Amino acid sequence: MIVRIGQGFDVHPFSDEPGRPLVLGGVVIPGARGLAGHSDADALSHALADAVLGGAALGDLGSHFPDSDPRWAGADSLDLLATVVLRAAACGLRPLNADCTLVAAVPRLSPHLPAMARRLTEALGAPVSVKATSPEGLGALGRGEGIAGLAVVLLGSLEDGSDATSPAPR
Ligand code: MG
Repeated sequence: MIVRIGQGFDVHPFSDEPGRPLVLGGVVIPGARGLAGHSDADALSHALADAVLGGAALGDLGSHFPDSDPRWAGADSLDLLATVVLRAAACGLRPLNADCTLVAAVPRLSPHLPAMARRLTEALGAPVSVKATSPEGLGALGRGEGIAGLAVVLLGSLEDGSDATSPAPR
C-alpha cells in the first residue's frame, strides 16, 4: 500500500457579528461567540481538509474553494471536507486516520470534543481524534482573539477494484 501524510493548519478571529454561531468540527458550540470567515469559519474542519489536500498533493483549501467565490459564502465546512475526500479519491487515495488539535483560550471545548470527532469521522470516512489545548495566555490566541486548528492525516492507496479507473497516486 502507498501511504501519504498530510498536515493542515487554520486560524480564524472571533467575529463581531451578533448571533453568529461558533462551529468547530461541524459542531455548534452553544452560547459561544462565532468566528469570522467567508464560510462557516470552522477552523478545525478547514485544517483537516487542508491536510487531506496536502497528503494528496492537491494544493490548499483556498485554491479549491476561493473566498472570493459567493458559492462558498456560509458554506458548511463538513461538505467542503467531504468534497476534498472525493478529490483525493480521484487521485487513488483514501484517509486512514486523522489527529486534530484545537488551540483556544475560550470557550471551554472539552465537553464538545467527542461530538466533533464523530462528525469529522463521518465526513472523512476514517477515524478522527480531536484534542484541545490552551495557548496559556500567549499571543493573539492566548488573548482569546480567535481559535486555531491543526490536523494530520494519513492517506493510503485505494483497494483494488474499488477505484480501478483512478490514476495512480502521485
Ligand atoms: Mg479557514
